[in-house]
Amino acid sequence: MVDIKEYIKSQTGVYGAWKSAKEISTFKGGGQAFVFYPQSVEKAVELIDVLGEENVDFSMLGNGSNTLVCDGNCRQVLVCLKGLCGVKIDGEKVVCEGGASVAKITFEGRKRGLGGLEFLSGVPCTLGGALKMNAGAFSSQIGDYVTKIDILNIDCANCDKNRTQNRIREISVNSKDLAYRKGVDGIVLKAELKLAKKSGEQSVNEAREYLRKRQEKQPSLPSLGSVFKNGKIPSGKLIDDCGLKGVKIGGAQVSQKHANFIVNVGGASAKDYLTLASLCKKEVFEKFGILLEEEFVTIE
Ligand SMILES: Cc1cc2nc3c(=O)[nH]c(=O)nc-3n(C[C@H](O)[C@H](O)[C@H](O)COP(=O)(O)OP(=O)(O)OC[C@H]3O[C@@H](n4cnc5c(N)ncnc54)[C@H](O)[C@@H]3O)c2cc1C
Repeated sequence: MVDIKEYIKSQTGVYGAWKSAKEISTFKGGGQAFVFYPQSVEKAVELIDVLGEENVDFSMLGNGSNTLVCDGNCRQVLVCLKGLCGVKIDGEKVVCEGGASVAKITFEGRKRGLGGLEFLSGVPCTLGGALKMNAGAFSSQIGDYVTKIDILNIDCANCDKNRTQNRIREISVNSKDLAYRKGVDGIVLKAELKLAKKSGEQSVNEAREYLRKRQEKQPSLPSLGSVFKNGKIPSGKLIDDCGLKGVKIGGAQVSQKHANFIVNVGGASAKDYLTLASLCKKEVFEKFGILLEEEFVTIE
């Protein structure tokens, strides 16, 4: 029997391969997933169409900095847009493809005397992943810097499937449309950002300062950033108050430095991560009656 993933590779000509969690998730623990890497918008659309036609359950992958890869072989297939990483700057208009890293956007903007995303220094994310999660830090969020997004319609009954452009919807974004860690729906192909005039020196200094503050409070071991979204009381404080800092299950540990981070101290599995996250959730609920909400995404 022909493997469906190999069939899709041959149908679309898009490269795909099994990739370990070490390669595709910043937690660096878990099993492996089959990842497709389209290198153009047209190929991404064609691939997603074929995945849909063949009823293959898929999910998008950016840099995997919020993504836990289940143990063993994941059932879900991943589509990674890191090959779509162009950044075009015309005056103050910055147009970036969904797979561009936020670090690259900041770097390219800086070369043209533009800045704004320094608050995300040290967050290892792509633009697509950041917009999906409405990534933020230090009271700023990426949604504040985006004006338009090109979204791929997956379920578009009235669209002509043979005409890629018909299926790409440009949406105007108002920062109020995006909530805390709740970004856009759909697949982010491209976005227009509004960055402000800023000297390279100022941008570098701000980025360094944000990074310094981050390193002071957050662990450097592999993680997925915050495990839980923050409410009125920061989740890290609630977990800490339950005495869970440093608690270990297998290779996963509630960070000694920041209790809302689960770090991989060596050889952690996805199950270790999930069991520890569940323990934190249970203890916080039992002690404070507060139900924590996961921020990370799990690939099944
Ligand atoms: C050290 C560290 C620090 C962090 N600090 C912060 C922080 O300060 N603030 C914060 O908000 N987060 C933080 N995070 C979490 C993480 O970086 C963010 O959630 C980030 O937005 C995820 O981006 P990514 O490209 O890695 O996405 P991934 O983890 O690859 O994917 C995340 C989600 O986005 C979806 N997605 C990816 N690409 C696309 C696309 N093109 N179109 C549509 N959906 C897509 C995926 O399907 C998934 O649902 C941190 C993580 C780490 C490891």
